[in-house]
Amino acid sequence: MRLLKYFICIVVLIAITTAVIHKNKSETPPNVIIILTDDQGYKDVGFNGSKDIKTPHIDRIAKNGVVFSNGYVSYAVCGPSRAGLITGRYQDRFGFSRNPLFAPKDSTQGLPVSEENLAEALKRGGYTSMAIGKWHLGAHPTLRPLQRGFDQFFGFLTGGHKYFPKNWTKQDISEVTAQWDAYNTKLLKNNKRIDETEYLTDALSREAVTFIKENKKKPFFLYLAYNAPHTPLQATAKYLARNTHIKDKKRRTYAAMISAVDDGVGSVLDALKKHNITDNTIVFFLSDNGGPETKNGSNNGPLRDGKGSMHEGGIRVPFAVQWPGVIPAGNIYENPVISLDIFATVMAQTGITPRNALDGKDLIKHLTNPTLPGPHQTLFWRNYDKQTFAIRKDTYKYVQDGKEKIGLYNLSKDIGEQYPLKADSISQNLLETHQKWNNANPLPAFLGLRQNRAYNKKYPKRYHDLEKY
Ligand code: CA
Repeated sequence: MRLLKYFICIVVLIAITTAVIHKNKSETPPNVIIILTDDQGYKDVGFNGSKDIKTPHIDRIAKNGVVFSNGYVSYAVCGPSRAGLITGRYQDRFGFSRNPLFAPKDSTQGLPVSEENLAEALKRGGYTSMAIGKWHLGAHPTLRPLQRGFDQFFGFLTGGHKYFPKNWTKQDISEVTAQWDAYNTKLLKNNKRIDETEYLTDALSREAVTFIKENKKKPFFLYLAYNAPHTPLQATAKYLARNTHIKDKKRRTYAAMISAVDDGVGSVLDALKKHNITDNTIVFFLSDNGGPETKNGSNNGPLRDGKGSMHEGGIRVPFAVQWPGVIPAGNIYENPVISLDIFATVMAQTGITPRNALDGKDLIKHLTNPTLPGPHQTLFWRNYDKQTFAIRKDTYKYVQDGKEKIGLYNLSKDIGEQYPLKADSISQNLLETHQKWNNANPLPAFLGLRQNRAYNKKYPKRYHDLEKY
């Protein structure tokens, strides 16, 4: 009897040891995919209630994971928002307070090398990374993706691009002679210009699927930054045919561009499934800023204003994440989160220590323990040139979006920021908290899009050299 007991004990011990060893072996670091869209409206995804634009594949992320109903970005237009996302830090901390110009000879126009981006941090953890699509973090040779931690790049360096290959008439940036010319260059594959034949969004999705296939056995980071549905509004017959029920031509084309992204998201998720790595891959989906409704036909739903504004329509975006088996599926998370959290989440889940202090928080900790308070008590925004700003603390938001648009709102009762509350100790406290945060921010490090003329005057040969007058 005693012998039998010993025998059972030994068998149990062996079983436990084997289980522990097995678990450690299977615990490979998670792959990370960020799918970023450009100028997509808050309501223009199925998971935020879109009726006319169907996004069945983007909605798969929401069904497999969590929707952030109060998901923010750190700036209301493209460039600074991306700088925040990719560093996990408020971009104002390092002077990235303007939309950079396309200035390939200027090493200050983009993400300063003093900042560590997510690909650079993950490289220290043995990751292979690829950036696909819109870069917008510097066109100078020292600031391009391959110099900034990414092993591969497929896309374009500037803030936007035309969608049809027939428009890509510039061989490379040596032929660019004006800010918007860069929309017409051939695409870059790593450091080489290539002859691409597919509709841009489809080409970006194709490259994403190839990257996943080629790197399925090692930890990878894929930064898939679609420029859709940013202007120019250009879609193929295939995607327009899916949206004939939309009467307004602008919105129909915009919807078709989202359909192309949605198919791309579907092909990415299918690739994960095919290679059996869905459960070991964190997939984030978000837009870089709110929709410019009159410009591209987007819809921010109940939110006030859109791209460029410090009201919710400029900074609250469609945002979801999946990590099956880790994050519970099908939930809505209502506490405020921000794009800066992506970096912090990835660091926490991979055990890599970031080089700089992060402003974001580990979202997994909060998503897996709903009893915890939200990750942020306070969030900050500012637009240096316009002298506009906003601060959110709990459900209160103080916003200054122009001389006439100053107010305190309680977002839990007034998501549309329609009913300003009386200025009191809460607004005073928010104002002071924002001022304190803002006082620590340096001046913008470079001239931006709004200073295009001044920059041209300062550097008349800017596309070839930075010789001054
Ligand atoms: Ca944008």
